Amino acid sequence: MKKVIVIGGGAAGLAAAISSARAGAAVEVLEGERQAAKKILLTGGGKCNFTNLDIDADYYNGACRELVSSVLKRFSPYDAISFFESIGVYPLIRDGYVYPRSEKASQVRNALLKECERLPITIRNNTPVKAAYKESERFFAVTDGYTYSADALIIAAGGLAQTQLSGNGYDIAKAFGHSVTSLKSGLCGIRFCDALNSCAGLRTTASLSYTDGEACFECEGEIQLTAYGISGIPAMNLSNVIAEKESLSGKEILVLDFVPEMSEEEFDGLLYDGMGLLSFFDTSLAKIFDINDSKKHPKHYSVNISGLKGFADSQVTNGGVRTDEVGKNMESRLINGLFFAGEILNVAGLCGGYNLHFAWASGLLAGCAAAGKEFTGAGDSGDIERWKKQQTKSRREYGILIKK
Ligand SMILES: Cc1cc2nc3c(=O)[nH]c(=O)nc-3n(C[C@H](O)[C@H](O)[C@H](O)COP(=O)(O)OP(=O)(O)OC[C@H]3O[C@@H](n4cnc5c(N)ncnc54)[C@H](O)[C@@H]3O)c2cc1C
Repeated sequence: MKKVIVIGGGAAGLAAAISSARAGAAVEVLEGERQAAKKILLTGGGKCNFTNLDIDADYYNGACRELVSSVLKRFSPYDAISFFESIGVYPLIRDGYVYPRSEKASQVRNALLKECERLPITIRNNTPVKAAYKESERFFAVTDGYTYSADALIIAAGGLAQTQLSGNGYDIAKAFGHSVTSLKSGLCGIRFCDALNSCAGLRTTASLSYTDGEACFECEGEIQLTAYGISGIPAMNLSNVIAEKESLSGKEILVLDFVPEMSEEEFDGLLYDGMGLLSFFDTSLAKIFDINDSKKHPKHYSVNISGLKGFADSQVTNGGVRTDEVGKNMESRLINGLFFAGEILNVAGLCGGYNLHFAWASGLLAGCAAAGKEFTGAGDSGDIERWKKQQTKSRREYGILIKK
C-alpha cells in the first residue's frame, strides 16, 4: 500500500487525505495546531461558503489563471456539492453561493473529520513540520522528536492569513527548489486617510472603482466605513487586485460612488429640483460631500489609498508557490512525488467561496495523484439542472469584481 504524508490538516489537506485514502493509500496528516481545520470554522461568518455556482478563473489573481482554469475544468462547483453530499453535507444555495444546509461551518469540518476517521487516515495534531526532504525515492517530514516517511508528500500548509503558525510551509517548498512569490494580505480592508474615517461604523451601498494603470476594476455592494478606511465585500475584492501591484506609490486612487443606482445627471437633477444631500445620505456622510468639488462629489468621491490591512485581518494570502511550477495534478514539476494543494500556492480568489473551492479541488486532485491514481471526479454531480436554477442573480448583483 502506498503511503502519503500531508503537511497541514486544513481544507486542502483534509480533502487531499480523503482522496488519497479513497484511492487506496495509507495517509498521515501532520497538523501543527491543536486541532485540524480550525480555519474552516471562521469561514463565511461561521456558515462556510464552500463553493459558488458562478465560478471562473477570472475570479482569481492573474498569475494563477492557467492552473485554475485547468483545475476548474476537472472540478466544478457541482463536483464540490457532490463531494460534500458524499460525506453527508447537504447544500444550501443562495444566489449561487453554496453553504451547508445547516449554515454551520462546524458541519463541514466535522464531516471531513468523520470521513478521515472512516478511511485509513491518521491525523496527528500538535505536530508542526519543521523541514522535509527527499532521499532514495522516499520523502521525510521532520517534526520535533520524530521524522515521518512516505512514498509521496503533499504540502497543504496554507498561507499567512489569520494563522498562529509561522508560515514555514513556504520554507519547506523552497527547500525543494520551488520559488515563492512575494506574500501580501488579500481579501482585507483598504486603508486611506480622509474625512470619511469620521463615519466609522457606517454601512451603505456603494460602487468602488480602482484603476491599476491599464484596467479599471469596479465592485458594488455593501461597504463599511471604518477608522482606517473601508471594508465590506467590494473593498475586500478590490484589495486582491491592489495586492497584485508589486508596491503602492501612494498615488493609487479609490473612487467611491455612493449613488450607484442612478447616473450623475439624474442625481444632480434631483438636487437641482430641491432634494438635499440629507434626502439621500446619513447626516455624517452628507456633511462630508461637496457637490462643487469633483473629488468630494457623492458620485465620484476620491481617496488616496495608503495600503491594505495586514494578514491578521485578511482572509487570504496573495502570493505563494509559483503555479507554473506545478502540473495539472498539482504535482511539482521539479520533484516527482511532491504535490501542493490550497492556499500555499499563488492562488487567491475573490469573496464568494472561491478560495475554499480551490482548496477542495486542488486537494482532491493532489491526493488522488499522490496515491498513483487518475482523478475521475468527486462522485455523481446529481441533478445539476436543479442546482443551476438556484443561480438567479447576475455577477454584478453579487457585488463581484468587474474588469473594464
Ligand atoms: C475569516 C475567514 C473567512 C473565510 N471565509 C471563506 C469563505 O466563506 N469561503 C471561502 O472560499 N474561503 C474563505 N476563507 C479562505 C479559506 O478559509 C482559505 O483559503 C482556505 O482555508 C485555505 O485552505 P488551506 O487548506 O490551503 O489552508 P488552511 O485552511 O489555512 O490550512 C492549512 C493548515 O496547515 C497547518 N500548517 C501550517 N503550517 C504547518 C506546518 N509547518 N506543519 C503542520 N501543519 C501546518 C495549519 O495549522 C492549517 O491547519 C476565509 C478565510 C478567513 C481567514
